[in-house]
Amino acid sequence: LLRVRGLSKSFGTNRVLESIDLTVGRGRVLALIGPSGSGKTTILRCLNGLEVADGGTISINGEVTLDFGTAPARKELTGLRDRSAMVFQHYNLFPHKTVLENVIEGPIIVQGRPRAEATAEALALLGRVGLADKRDAHPFELSGGQQQRVGIVRALALRPQLLLFDEPTSSLDPELVGDVLRLIKELAVEGWTMVIVTHELEFAREVATEVAFVDGGTIVEHGDPKQLLRNPTQERTRQFLHRLL
Ligand code: ATP
Repeated sequence: LLRVRGLSKSFGTNRVLESIDLTVGRGRVLALIGPSGSGKTTILRCLNGLEVADGGTISINGEVTLDFGTAPARKELTGLRDRSAMVFQHYNLFPHKTVLENVIEGPIIVQGRPRAEATAEALALLGRVGLADKRDAHPFELSGGQQQRVGIVRALALRPQLLLFDEPTSSLDPELVGDVLRLIKELAVEGWTMVIVTHELEFAREVATEVAFVDGGTIVEHGDPKQLLRNPTQERTRQFLHRLL
């Protein structure tokens, strides 16, 4: 479903991504792990068109291909944004909008779907995550875990082909992490295709179908989660995992 080849990105003279290759099949879950500043978030932001890469290609489902060797056209960037949805570390909900308004904004404004249809779907999704009664609340009235579940519902409401999660639980109090991880796990079981940046190695082992270790803007090692997390082949991966244990 997702194919990335030679993706590169610099911020000024800081080369942040160096020729990243990734392939994620439909219904697969890729966990990106690696030290702070290694480029994981930048990979996600490029996949969602929030950052424009300097080189390489991204294609989703063979339907849209962006070649960053030449400046991609706006139409292609829009195609990329339409097919993926991001769940952010800090939720990024609109503070002045209600829960329901946060969820229906994208479907109505960006995708031009009828308000009644978007609202019905949003309420069904909110019900699914136990937040139907919070539809008229504002984000500041919710716990972090509830806000993140709204963040996930907002992404699902866009009906993306690819779900991107940027450290979805790292802003949460420990007792709220479990609910959000359980929800992401359910989505994996339902067959959503996902790329998840996470520091939760146990979660990656359980839910991901593959893991990539990112360090210094490159993919150092990529493979089966159980294999890679227990028995990495690269010394840098070994050192990283060792520090986390
Ligand atoms: P973390 O786990 O801490 O979120 P990360 O692996 O996700 O780290 P990135 O956020 O992708 O790493 O950052 C990679 C590098 O790119 C860092 O050196 C960061 O300072 C730099 N960087 C990221 N975004 C920008 C930006 N908008 N402008 C300039 N530099 C940036």
